[in-house]
Amino acid sequence: MKTKKVYINTIGCQMNVYDSGRMQRLLSDENYISTSLPENADLVIVNTCAIREKAVQKVHSFLGRMKALKKKNPDLHVVVAGCVAQQEGARLIERFPQVNIVMGTHAVDQLPDLLRRVQRDGNPIVEIALTETILEKPAKTAAVPGEAGVNGFVTIMRGCDNYCTYCVVPYVRGREVSREPGAVIAEIEAMVRSGVKEITLLGQNVNSYGVKEGMTSFPELLAKANDINGLLRIRFVTSHPKDLSDQLIASFGTLKKLCNHIHLPIQSGANPVLKRMNRKYTRESYLEKIAKLRSVSKDIAISTDLIVGFPGETDADFNDTLDLMKTVQFDSLFAFEYSDRPEAPAARFSDKIPSDVKYNRLQALLDLQKNIIAANHAQLPGQVFPVLIEGESKNQQKKPAIPGIIELMGRTSENRIVNFAVPADSSLDMNALKGQIVHIRIEKTFLNSLQGVLVPVKH
Ligand code: SAM
Ligand code: SF4
Repeated sequence: MKTKKVYINTIGCQMNVYDSGRMQRLLSDENYISTSLPENADLVIVNTCAIREKAVQKVHSFLGRMKALKKKNPDLHVVVAGCVAQQEGARLIERFPQVNIVMGTHAVDQLPDLLRRVQRDGNPIVEIALTETILEKPAKTAAVPGEAGVNGFVTIMRGCDNYCTYCVVPYVRGREVSREPGAVIAEIEAMVRSGVKEITLLGQNVNSYGVKEGMTSFPELLAKANDINGLLRIRFVTSHPKDLSDQLIASFGTLKKLCNHIHLPIQSGANPVLKRMNRKYTRESYLEKIAKLRSVSKDIAISTDLIVGFPGETDADFNDTLDLMKTVQFDSLFAFEYSDRPEAPAARFSDKIPSDVKYNRLQALLDLQKNIIAANHAQLPGQVFPVLIEGESKNQQKKPAIPGIIELMGRTSENRIVNFAVPADSSLDMNALKGQIVHIRIEKTFLNSLQGVLVPVKH
């Protein structure tokens, strides 16, 4: 069979990265290899995100570029996958006739069949059914040996039942369904066999894993993953604060491989806003959970998501958010200007915030966060952290190498990026270094990374 080339453009969250990996593996069975240039491809897939208007615009402009490409190469097939595909369905083909397949968030496994159909009949296909069935068994998604990096993602559940009023996810990813624990563990084991050392378990709200199905709970799933030989670290995203249980908090003290970091999106520091967002927790209950986490692990890194300019957000509400940031001292955060999503109820709320106010609030919030990070980082020089080596640093990849030195990059358990130099003599084996945990003493800090030196470990 002739080898073909596929270009995959992944927009959005880690779940999309995971789904793009699944598509790539399914296509490798069909003799497709990856290309980094759409111009060289026989098949272009854009795996899309609908969370904010800007992400949707990105998809539309990419599809515009594909029109020109298809003129040059009429045999090119164009696939739109993910949340925008789910949301817009056949409208995408009407607007962008260069698209051959629109496949929704539940159709990933059908990709080879859909491609065969379109190659045979030539007619465009729209496959956006939302199924209630549990995710596929591990065999179809297991990593190809040798392909994996140090870090791997495993989706443990799909969809969301929380219906936060600003959010499109429940409408484009469907109802919440958890995968069987056996399938999840088998998939992690397969990834570890292919070289993965750190796994991130993915779900919109991992805290409710298995609850609906009456299966293994999330802390129990973590304990099972913790027992996997050869796996060094476990992370997870995302935790909904309302469902963060004492048992899960306790896991940070008992599970050796569980990283010392939690991503706990607060969205707003003001109770009236949280109520209108339908988040089902208060500022006070959030702060209580932070205190519990810190009582189990004193220096646990806490990151969050924040939305500014939610409909009706007053200056006082916004100041409550800034005040909460000062109280918690987040290690990092993702902050977004509120964006209307036509499917989500908040799109129909009154008191929309003007875009210049949203912009100014976002800048004020980011400025405050810079100061918080600078203060947090000021404590780090001189401290030694175990760092899992992921490969060459970004600097090393960009700049011409300094003779005799190679800069490596890894992460602390707290998810901080650390760069450090090692002598680049003939004994340096990058493949052997990747995936090892070394000890690094921090010497310098920057906003988004740390720099340190290797510390020999005394046995
Ligand atoms: N399930 C996770 C949770 O509950 O936090 C994350 C879901 S979403 C993929 C990631 C982030 O996007 C959210 O935490 C929220 O901050 C942001 N987001 C979602 N909808 C948004 C909207 N309409 N406008 C701006 N930001 C939004
Ligand atoms: Fe969206 Fe809320 Fe579900 Fe997160 S928990 S995916 S923000 S509806």
